[in-house]
Amino acid sequence: MVVAAAVAAEAVAAVTELTGADELHAFGEVVAGCTKCALAAGRTQVVFGAGDPSSDLMFVGEAPGFHEDKQGVPFVGAAGKLLEQLLAGIGLTRDEVYIANVLKCRPPGNRDPLPEEIQACESHLWRQIELIQPRVVATLGNFATKLLSGRPTGITRVHGQEQEVTLGGRRVLLYPIYHPAAALYTPRMLEVLKDDFARLPELMGREAVPPVPVYVAPVAVEPAVQLGLF
Ligand code: URA
Repeated sequence: MVVAAAVAAEAVAAVTELTGADELHAFGEVVAGCTKCALAAGRTQVVFGAGDPSSDLMFVGEAPGFHEDKQGVPFVGAAGKLLEQLLAGIGLTRDEVYIANVLKCRPPGNRDPLPEEIQACESHLWRQIELIQPRVVATLGNFATKLLSGRPTGITRVHGQEQEVTLGGRRVLLYPIYHPAAALYTPRMLEVLKDDFARLPELMGREAVPPVPVYVAPVAVEPAVQLGLF
């Protein structure tokens, strides 16, 4: 009798105790219906985020572009391909990190996010960080860097400089780096991005892997380029 009660209690606990991953998934379903700003009207779908829900490393980009809006997954266009190559260079795949954006919906024509859109959307990002509990948050480009650092200093000045901040109620290492979309068109910036990327294993407290060359083929400008990244 007592044993049966204990087994039943354990089963109830298993049902009621949600893991961070479960909570993130449930939160994603809520955000999928978000109508907090005008971007909701023009989107194909919300691009919540993707990857390992308990990764030590989280990337935060700007906003979904054309391909992301269609597929519902962040960084699936040309910038995403570069991000994957850079990850491979440090021995990681996109499934081993978590990738999200400041805005969860595509701005029309990939224009820059507006202050009111960032304001409406930012609580989604805070909650994601709270649930994922990453050790390192790498901000890609200006918008993510300014939002998460709480400072107006642009990416050109702060890239590659880690700083401890409190995000989602926890101390994390914020690590601003150039946005891959910007690096696609500026070879010098790509070199800087590669160098900054190479420090990620050390910042995560992992053993650095031998650097793997990242070859980036010249790209034809895709329509989904986001400007204002530096
Ligand atoms: N650029 C971003 O900032 N985010 C994406 O998801 C794709 C391109």
